Amino acid sequence: MWEEIVGHQENKEFLEGLLKKGDSPHALLFYGPEGIGKALLARHFARAFLCMSEGNKPCEACESCKVLNFKNENYAHPDYMFVAPEEVGKDLKVEQIRNVIEEAAFAPALSKHKVCIINAADSMNTISANAVLKILEEPPVGWLVILIATRKDKLLETILSRVIQVRFNPLKVEETQKVLTEKGFSETEAEVLARLSDGSLGAALNFQEAEGLKYRNLALDYIRAFPLKMPMNFLVENTHYDKVLPNRKEQRIFLQMEEYIFRDLLFMKLGLEAQIFNSDIQAELKEILVKWNESALKAAILATNRAARARANHTGMKGVLETLTISLNDYVEGRL
Ligand SMILES: [Zn+2]
Repeated sequence: MWEEIVGHQENKEFLEGLLKKGDSPHALLFYGPEGIGKALLARHFARAFLCMSEGNKPCEACESCKVLNFKNENYAHPDYMFVAPEEVGKDLKVEQIRNVIEEAAFAPALSKHKVCIINAADSMNTISANAVLKILEEPPVGWLVILIATRKDKLLETILSRVIQVRFNPLKVEETQKVLTEKGFSETEAEVLARLSDGSLGAALNFQEAEGLKYRNLALDYIRAFPLKMPMNFLVENTHYDKVLPNRKEQRIFLQMEEYIFRDLLFMKLGLEAQIFNSDIQAELKEILVKWNESALKAAILATNRAARARANHTGMKGVLETLTISLNDYVEGRL
């Protein structure tokens, strides 16, 4: 079941087992990295759980299956709640949790159960968390609460002790790649995106949306220019780095891509070609590789990492690039 959701085979089997057994838990916690399908699986599990027919699959025919149908974007099931921050990256609001508490006073209206999914549960403040704890301590009849979190350690101990914890691991590169190919990406593009996103499908899609490969290629051009005769002049002559990297988001991607490229170069130096992220530009990397020795590459990785942190700590991009350019030029010329 849930073939449309990639990976997480063990968790799927565990959840299927819960459907079969019939004696459902009151609360589950799905935790693991961002963007790997936790909420998606929670939704599909909820649908199967709320189905009114016998059996452990959504029958697609009962009233419950009809009114909760993600394919038709139909979420108007009276016994289904999905609570999530109003915007990505924002916290859950106390009022949102208050709505859940109010709802807890009502028995299931259609199905035998009621399901409440709370996404980004690790962004609840203490008041919200304590309110949720109340529900977990005295679960209303027929209720199933599914908490979803990236950081388990940000949840109260008292909450953790009252939920069945289901751990989600990052997807394998091949799994992410498969989904991306199905979404219409070319084989190569899908592979690179999957590797760069470290098993997070969400991250891969965000990366694509942010034109991540464009900035990767920009980072490649930058690294290709070394060694420089006059590092400071290089930046003055190439003012396009200011123009094409106007915002922090692009700057962050650019610096991260530089780190990845140096990492790939080091892996290639060590004969670990199979491990590299940027497999589509291996030929270009080979040309660059002859100019760099192993210690210079290691130093370059650290320098790009420092640059990214400096930028994150509000050092201006111009200053960050100047320092980085001078350091990299020293390393490539053997001044370590
Ligand atoms: Zn059904």
